Amino acid sequence: MVPKVVFGKGAFDQIGEIISPVRNGIAPFIYLIDSVFENNISFIEDRIPLRSMDEIIYVSTEEEPKTSQVDELVNRINSTYQFAPSGIIGIGGGSILDLSKAVAIMLTNPGSAADYQGWDLVKNKAVYHVGIPTISGTGAEVSRTTVLTGPERKLGINSDFTPFDQVILDPELINNVPKNQWFYTGMDCYIHCVESLNGTYLNAFSQSYGEKALDLCKEIFLENDLEKEDADSKLMMASWHGGMSIAYSQVGVAHAMSYGLAYVLGTKHGVGNCIVFDKLEKYYPEGVAIFKKMKEYHNITLPVGVCADITSEQLDTMCEVALSLEPLWENALGKDWKSEVNAEVLKKIYRSL
Ligand code: NAD
Ligand code: ZN
Repeated sequence: MVPKVVFGKGAFDQIGEIISPVRNGIAPFIYLIDSVFENNISFIEDRIPLRSMDEIIYVSTEEEPKTSQVDELVNRINSTYQFAPSGIIGIGGGSILDLSKAVAIMLTNPGSAADYQGWDLVKNKAVYHVGIPTISGTGAEVSRTTVLTGPERKLGINSDFTPFDQVILDPELINNVPKNQWFYTGMDCYIHCVESLNGTYLNAFSQSYGEKALDLCKEIFLENDLEKEDADSKLMMASWHGGMSIAYSQVGVAHAMSYGLAYVLGTKHGVGNCIVFDKLEKYYPEGVAIFKKMKEYHNITLPVGVCADITSEQLDTMCEVALSLEPLWENALGKDWKSEVNAEVLKKIYRSL
C-alpha cells in the first residue's frame, strides 16, 4: 500500500516541503510530466521548486507506456548522472503514473522492463517515487502494478516495490480535463468496481473499498446537484478506493477484452473499456444498464465500428491476448470459465464493437 498521502485543494504546492527530507546530496529529483502541460507552465512547471540538478522531462501520452520507453528513459537518466536520482516524481494520468513507477523500479534492477512483467519478479527496492494524478479513475496512483505494453504482451509489473512512496491528491489538478476523457477515465473506476464486486475473488477487503467507490461513482455521474469542485474531490477518492478494491481482487471481462483491443489496435484503456463494457450485458446486466444511463446523462457517444476493418489474424491475436489473462476470467466466471468462454465467443463480441 502507499504509505503516505496528502489530500486537498492546493496540496500540490507542498511538493518542495514533502520531498526535501528525501533529497540525497546533489542527486536530482526527476519529474516526468505529461506533455499536455508543456504549453501551460503556470499550471505545473512554475510551481515546482527545482534545485541543483533537478530535471523536468515532458512525456507524450499519445500512446500508452511501453517497456521500450521505460528502458530509454532509464538509459537517459543513467547516462546523464553518475548516481541514482533522489527520486522520480510522476505528474499526469495513469500513463505517466505507470511510467514513473516503472522507471523508479528499473533504476535499481538490471535488464529490461519487459523482464519484470508479471507477478513479484522485482528483486530490489525502487528509487523513491511520488505520484501526482492530474486525471482520476484508473487507480494507478494507489495500485501495486504498472501496466506496460511489451514486445510480447500488455501486462503489469506487479510487485511490493511498485506502489508510490508518496501520493499527492490535489483535486484542483483534475479540474480542466476534457469532458470525454473525464468520462472514459472515470468509467475505468466504475468498471473496476463492477468487475471487482461481481467477481469470484471478492472478499471483505475488496468489497468495502469497492462499494464506497461505486456509491461515489453513482453520485458523480448520475446526480446533477454536485458542485464541480465537490465532484472532482469525490472522483479522486473514488479512483483511490476503486484501485484499493482491485488490489485484493481482480478485474474481469471488460478489462481482458480491452487489453486485446489495446494490444492490436492501440485503443486507449479508458475508452477501450467503455467500448467493450457497453456490450457486456450478458456478464454484468445491472452494471451495464447503469453505465448506459451515465453515458446518456452526459451525452457521450462512444466510437463505433472499431473492429470493422480488422483482419482475421488481428482478431485471433485479440482473442489470444484476452484469453491469456486467466486470473481475470477466473475472477469473472469462476474456475470453470473455459466452459463458458473461448475464442469464438469473444470474436462475436469483438465483431460487434
Ligand atoms: P492518460 O494518462 O493516458 O491520459 C489521458 C489523456 O488525458 C491524455 O491525453 C493526457 O494528456 C490528458 N490529461 C491528463 N491530465 C489532464 C489534465 N489535467 N488536463 C487536460 N488533459 C489531461 O489516461 P488515464 O486514463 O488516466 O490512464 C490510462 C493508463 O492507465 C493506461 O496506460 C492504463 O493501462 C493505465 N492503468 C493503470 C492502472 C494501474 O493500476 N496501474 C489501472 C488502470 C489503468
Ligand atoms: Zn482499468
